Amino acid sequence: EADDTPSRPRQRVVTKGSNIPSHADTFHELVERYQLSSLLLSNLTTYGYTQPTGIQSYGIPILLQSRDLAAISPTGTGKTLSYLLPIMSSLGAPSSSANSDAGSGVRAIVIAPTRELAHQIHNECLKLAQGRKWRIVLFSKATAGTLADKATRDKVDIIISTPLRLVASLRSGGVELNNVRHLILDEADRMLDSEFFPQVEEILAACSHPNLQKAVFSATLPAGAEKMAMQMLKDPIRVVVGLKDT
Ligand code: ADP
Ligand code: MG
Repeated sequence: EADDTPSRPRQRVVTKGSNIPSHADTFHELVERYQLSSLLLSNLTTYGYTQPTGIQSYGIPILLQSRDLAAISPTGTGKTLSYLLPIMSSLGAPSSSANSDAGSGVRAIVIAPTRELAHQIHNECLKLAQGRKWRIVLFSKATAGTLADKATRDKVDIIISTPLRLVASLRSGGVELNNVRHLILDEADRMLDSEFFPQVEEILAACSHPNLQKAVFSATLPAGAEKMAMQMLKDPIRVVVGLKDT
């Protein structure tokens, strides 16, 4: 299946997989089809996100339908929002609140290869989460200390981290991942290479919840990384965005 995204004629989107949810041409469609909250929608508007990019219009419905996803889309096409929006839409109440329906503790993890990238993702996440009381933590040496306290740790909802930093916390017992429902590998070509894959495997092994959704995002996915991704993902949908006229 191949078709053009009407809103972004310069992007060509190709999808592959079973029962692919239809794409959304506007953010408002997500409100109607997936009960995206009006708060999230208004945060999008506040930050000037008026229309979804190609990867967003295809990727967001797929993730909102709890499917695993391999998303390949060029740098600068808005991959970050493609995974943050679905996470926030399905996260439920903050862990710190009494009526947390999805259970408490870390429920979403985003892994990125560098601190700088993790930092950017964290910033984007904070913007989008304005008005909600989720605790969104950028893992660092400093947070590892704070999270040694179990009461503090249990209030964390989302973790953004490099693989090394998260593995270090796992090994020291400074983080529990058994309630994680969403695991995202950003810049997946690097996350699935020989340098990082052992750490990714260790993180995966700790994410023991049966309803774990996994997704990988990358600008490119070389054959080796693609093979790893397909082994890791369950009945995945693959979305490839290409720029036209380039
Ligand atoms: P990628 O991860 O694909 O390289 P980013 O997620 O970093 O891309 O997004 C690139 C830039 O585009 C960021 O500045 C981001 O805020 C902006 N952006 C993302 N989605 C939209 C949108 N729907 N409308 C306008 N700007 C967007
Ligand atoms: Mg990115």
